[in-house]
Formats: sequence, structure tokens, C-alpha cells
Amino acid sequence: MNYTKEQIIQIVKENNVKFIRLQFTDILGNLKNVAITASQLEKALDNKCMFDGSSIEGFVRIEESDMYLRPDLDTFVIFPWRPQDGKVARFICDVYTPDGKPFEGCPRYALKKVLKEAADLGYSFNVGPECEFFLFVTDEKGKPTTITQDDAGYFDLAPIDLGENARRDICLTLENMGFEIEASHHEVARGQHEIDFKYADALKAADNINTFKMVVKIVAQKHGLHATFMPKPIAGINGSGMHTNMSLFKDGKNAFYDEKDALQLSQTAYNYIGGLIKNMRSMAAVTNPLVNSYKRLVPGYEAPVNIAWSCHNRSPLIRIPAARGASTRVELRSPDPSSNPYLVLAACLAAGLDGVKNKIKPPKPVEQNVFKMTKEEKAKAGVGDLPSELNEALTELQNSALMKNTLGEHIFENYLEAKREEWFEYITKVHQWELDEYLSVY
Ligand code: GLN
Ligand code: MG
Ligand code: MG
Ligand code: MG
Repeated sequence: MNYTKEQIIQIVKENNVKFIRLQFTDILGNLKNVAITASQLEKALDNKCMFDGSSIEGFVRIEESDMYLRPDLDTFVIFPWRPQDGKVARFICDVYTPDGKPFEGCPRYALKKVLKEAADLGYSFNVGPECEFFLFVTDEKGKPTTITQDDAGYFDLAPIDLGENARRDICLTLENMGFEIEASHHEVARGQHEIDFKYADALKAADNINTFKMVVKIVAQKHGLHATFMPKPIAGINGSGMHTNMSLFKDGKNAFYDEKDALQLSQTAYNYIGGLIKNMRSMAAVTNPLVNSYKRLVPGYEAPVNIAWSCHNRSPLIRIPAARGASTRVELRSPDPSSNPYLVLAACLAAGLDGVKNKIKPPKPVEQNVFKMTKEEKAKAGVGDLPSELNEALTELQNSALMKNTLGEHIFENYLEAKREEWFEYITKVHQWELDEYLSVY
């Protein structure tokens, strides 16, 4: 929706909205918020609401911790699940410094910068995400378990699919908040679901992903379930991905479509794919940010392992879905839903534009199952590997001038630091697997 300040004030009054949450994301993609009462609305709309940025992950040092929140009016929405007398609404905000400049550590700003670069080349960027998640049973204390309440599989129906009620409630709540839900279904793994909402321009898509994750968690909780976007909660079954469907538009037309080409793809589409492939290894720490992310990217669970593209099969990293014309798009299958959507879309667009600007040719599409190719066949076809663990991905990120420029120095440095710490924590722990394998043998 496009709202003016006056309209917002009106809606808040008419609906008896009592609290307004000013939301923003930290560099790791976690949604944060401060609540204000409706009496502070005008102050917020005049961009005068301040918060202490020093305790937000990757934000600022103590000496310079005052930050301002500028609500994006178009993101205003009333939460349908909160009490209806004394309603709660929210804005997603941009973070600004006290001297009125966009804050370099704001992920939304990083995305806006790349979108501006695309706009200067005449492109707008549309994104349709497919977020997968698990619904788990909670224990007596309300803590999440990894027990699922169903044994259903891909596209199964109730009554086996007990998560169906929760999923239905999630969809209705999202629709209430202005989402257009295109599809929702049980995913391959037990307890796993997917809900797809309509594509949007990238900024809105990133806002939507974060709103989506919040709603899924809240509604699941109402059903006594815990929703998780952790990429691989259970070994041995599928993990959760966030397939990212992307297209560039120019002069109102899909710039990836060319009816005269053998695959009906434009030069721009080929170059975009070329750019993604070239930069893929350096983006992985953004698209797959957790230690756990790399446990999803292993053979056998419909998640990509190799860097290749295809029109006809689903095993590669990049797939071109069959739809053409205005729906022509590139589906990147590596991102997972634990990622920061603003940074993922910024990285994807920057990588794709690198291809478009520098006319990077992609390798030939791979039409066989990449998992079944030998090492030699892969080398011959130019098929590389995604990083196999977070540490490798961090090194690749650190060496990428394009990613440094795209994320901006502030996010780049702070992100690497936070993630290196996470890696250090992980490798210095003794895990259950080690005890099981080694304790009695050695
Ligand atoms: N869950 C799979 C993944 O990890 C995707 C499965 C699918 O959507 N077909 O990416
Ligand atoms: Mg899907
Ligand atoms: Mg899926
Ligand atoms: Mg898909």
C-alpha cells in the first residue's frame, strides 16, 4: 500500500491502534523492534524516534550509539493476532545516523544501494521467494523439540498432515496483512512446509520475507508448535531452503525473455546467470550464513552442492523454471531461510549485474543429474563446488571486492567478525558425534 502521513494518522485513530512497533533488522537478519504508543506517532512519522544502537548485533560502538528510525510508510500494517481493542501496528524502518545520513550498517540500505545501481542501468528487480520451514512439537515447558507431529510428505493432505491447521491459519493471517499467497503445501520431510507468496520488487520482497518469518513463528506458537527456519534441523532428511526466483525488468518488459533464442532467454539472462555463477562462492556466507547451513548443502536432499545451471532438471544450483514471457526467471536454489533477506538480495543482484555489465558468459547448462557426474565430467563441464563449510565461505567472502562493495565496509567487517566468532565457537566445542565415534574406540 502507498500511504501518506495523514492517512496513517487517520487509520491509527479510526482503528484505535494503541501501540506501534518500529521494526528494523540487524546485520544477521534478525528483526528488532521498539514499541511506541500511538501518542508518539507524529514524532515517529517526523523521523524523530531514536534508539540505542550499541546493543544491536553489528551496529555501532558505544560512543556513537544514537540511531534514528525512519518509518517506511508503505510497510504500515496492523497485526491481526493482537487484541482487537487496543490494536498493535508496525512500520519497517530505515536506520539513520544523528546527522541525518543513512546508516551504513542498515541491511535495508545495502539493498537500496544496489537497487539504485540497477535503476541507473534501467532495471528494476523482482523477487519471488519460496520459504520452507519445519513445525515442531514443544515440550511441557514450551521449549522447541525436533519431534514432528506428522509423518506426511510432499503435497500430502490432511488428516495425515496435522500441520495443516497451523499452515492454513498462517496463510489467512498473511492474507489479512496484504500478502498474496500463491501456494502452500507440505514439503518432502515430515513436519516440513512451504508457503509461497507473490513476487514483488526486491525491497518489498525482503520486507515480506522478514514479516513472513515473524508471522509463521507467532501463528505456529498459537497452535502449540514451534516453527523453525533453521536450515537443517534433522540429519538424514531434507533441510529447508529459500529458493529465490529473480527477474530484471526494463521498460516494463521482462529483460530475461527473448522469444528468438533457442531457450527463449535473453543475453541479459545469460549474463546474469554468468555473474551469479562467477560470484557464487563469495556469496555463500551471505546466502548460507550458519554453521548448520552447510549441513543442508550435501548430496541427496534436493539442495545444491555444485555450481551449475539447467532448464530441465532440479539438481543444479540455478534452474530456469519453464514459464516464459513476463514470468521468465532465474531460480537460485542455494539460499536458506536463516539468511538476512536484504543482504541475500543485495548480493544476488550485485552478482547478476556484474555479469550483465561485464557480459560474463555462463558455462553450458548441465542437463544431467550433477550428483551422478564424476569428478572428471564435472571439471570438463566447468561445474564447481559450493563451499562445504562456513569457514571456507567466510574466506571466499573476505576475498571478494564485489561483496565488500555491495555490503558496504561496515556490514562487511562486522558480519565477518560475528561469523568468525560463530565458527570459532563451533570448532572449539566437543560434539556428541565425536564422543560417539571416539570415546570408546580410543
Ligand atoms: N528442501 C529442499 C532444499 O533444501 C528443496 C525441496 C523442493 O522445494 N523441491 O532446498
Ligand atoms: Mg517450491
Ligand atoms: Mg520447496
Ligand atoms: Mg523451487
